This record gives sequence, C-alpha cells and structure tokens, in this order.
Amino acid sequence: MLTCTGFAAASPTTPLAPITFNRRDVGADDVQIEILYCGVCHSDLHFARDEWHFTVYPAVPGHEIIGRVTSVGAGVSKYKVGEYVGVGCMVDSCRTCPSCVEGLEQYCDKGNVGTYGGTEPVIGGPTFGGYSSSIVVDQSFVLRIPEGMDLASTAPLLCAGITLYSPLKHWGAGPGKKVGIIGLGGLGHMGVKLSHAMGAQTVLFTTSPGKVEDGKKLGAEQVVISKDAAQMAAHTESFDLIIDTVSASHDLTPYFNLLKREGTMVQVGAPEHPLPIAVFPLIMKRRNFAGSMIGGIAETQEMLDFCAARNITADVEIIPIQKINEAYERMLKSDVKYRFSIDMASLTA
Ligand SMILES: [Zn+2]
Ligand SMILES: [Zn+2]
Repeated sequence: MLTCTGFAAASPTTPLAPITFNRRDVGADDVQIEILYCGVCHSDLHFARDEWHFTVYPAVPGHEIIGRVTSVGAGVSKYKVGEYVGVGCMVDSCRTCPSCVEGLEQYCDKGNVGTYGGTEPVIGGPTFGGYSSSIVVDQSFVLRIPEGMDLASTAPLLCAGITLYSPLKHWGAGPGKKVGIIGLGGLGHMGVKLSHAMGAQTVLFTTSPGKVEDGKKLGAEQVVISKDAAQMAAHTESFDLIIDTVSASHDLTPYFNLLKREGTMVQVGAPEHPLPIAVFPLIMKRRNFAGSMIGGIAETQEMLDFCAARNITADVEIIPIQKINEAYERMLKSDVKYRFSIDMASLTA
C-alpha cells in the first residue's frame, strides 16, 4: 500500500484536518499522480458534511484534480512519467454495460466509482479524493492536460467545466442558438464561457445586479435580472436551451415560458427537496425538462482540448489547503470568483 497525506473530515461537524491514509499499490493499468492542484466543488462540502447521507468517515473530498504522473504500471500505454494529467469525478465504472460501452461512464448501470465516496475497487473501503498528496487511478479514467494550460485554473474544468460542456453539446448549443445560463457561480461562470465559445447567443440570468458586468465580461451578450418581470418578459419564447446551475429551490415556471416551442430546460444544480413543477407551460409548447450529470471520459477529454484551443479556464482564487474550512464558509456565501483551487504544495509547507 502507498501512504498518502491529505485533509479529511472525521465527522459531519468537524472541520477538515490533516490525515495520513493508504491507497492501493500501482497496478498494471494504474497511473500514480502527484497532485498539484485540486478545485473546490460544492459537492465536496455536501460530502464532507454528509448532507447526501452516504459519507463514510474519514472523508477526503476533491474531484477536480490536476497532477503530474510519478509512476505507471507495466500495462500503461497512454501516459508517461512527468506528464500533466487530470482526474475528475469518476475513477472507474463497470465498463461493460450499455452506458459504459457508449462512453457514458457517468451513467454506468452499476453506478460509476466516485473519486471520493465510492468503493475502492481493488482494496475495498471508501475512495479518497484529491485533497491529498497523490492518487492512483486506472489509465482509462485519467485525462490528458493539453500543453500550456494553466494548471490551477484548469482543475475546475474536471467537474464544473464538464458539467456544463456536456449538456451544451448534447442539446446543440452553437451558432444560431440562444442559450440561457441561470446563476453565476462555479458552474454558471463556466456555462457562460463555454456557451459563448461554442458560438451560441448567451444570456445570463442572475438575481444580483452586481453580477451584470462580470457576466458580460465572461461572454454573456445580455444579463437578465431574474427578479425583474419586465426584463424576463422581454425574452418570452426565445430560448432553445436554458441550463439551471442553481441548487437552491426556486420557481422554474418563469423560465419555462422563456423557452421556444420544443426548447429544453436542463437542471445541473440539484435542489435538496422535490420541486413543484407547473406542467402547463411544458404541455402548451411541447417543451422539455431534463437533467444532466458531468460527462463521459472521452467527452471530458474533448472538453479539455476544446478549452485549450480557445484559452478557456476557470476563474480561480488559489488557496493553501489550510484555508479549506474558511473556503467552505465563503463558498456558502458565494464569496468567491468563481472557484477555489487548492495549491497542494501547501500540504507539506
Ligand atoms: Zn463537483
Ligand atoms: Zn457500466
């Protein structure tokens, strides 16, 4: 077994603190990665505090991982020692079900193996995430980081980036299409950048007048204050696609009315409680209401290559791991533009 250091929560109510733990030895198809940066996703906080009721402690969060290959197994052909690589939300899946065969490992029939909170496929026990010194991952679930990308700000692409890229691609965002992004946080700011880069007419919806200028800088042609009924009404029946990144419960009906006939509203933010849905606006215009979760491995690589070619990364604030508990509190207040990225060199500082 390999000995790692990291930061973990010991219970739902204790702050994250240093820990030493084991990972499996490097197997024939495995890549060992020294972790350089790890993005801070809202899911990390839910997981650390057991808000989704499946956390096994100690819990090491982190699934926006960027690092350098330090060793490879005998069967590894895709990666060499010294290369920069990434690991996102999954580290394995069954690889044989129809979803896996189609490259949609995130929807694996048996459930994908989460980078944290999953079951370690070789040595058992929980999987440990990227708030740590190193990780061992099968080469099939490792991403290549294109040369020249800034590592700290590329990390959030592995979850926030692909979470928006996949539905934008799936529902055809591009030239001639009008796309709305609801919410300007870690997810939303990537949605605005990616939709704009794909060539879609991009509109940001926010409740904060203070975010109008930022939204435009990130690539939104227009920013709509969603509490302003007149501003909303000006966009009635005009959108091909709206992606909702907000996880707080809010009324979706006003947005349904902004979709064209057969337009689609996609949830990527996950409200804790069921939402009451007004179905009339859906029925009357054959509109769609859908959900989407991250992306497959091939699509995640495609997203990284797309971003590299267009110079797109996340806007990040780099923090040392010792500030992680403070970062969680700030994240809850949306006090970050727009993602924290942990400099993992701080682990040994
Ligand atoms: Zn995430
Ligand atoms: Zn599968």
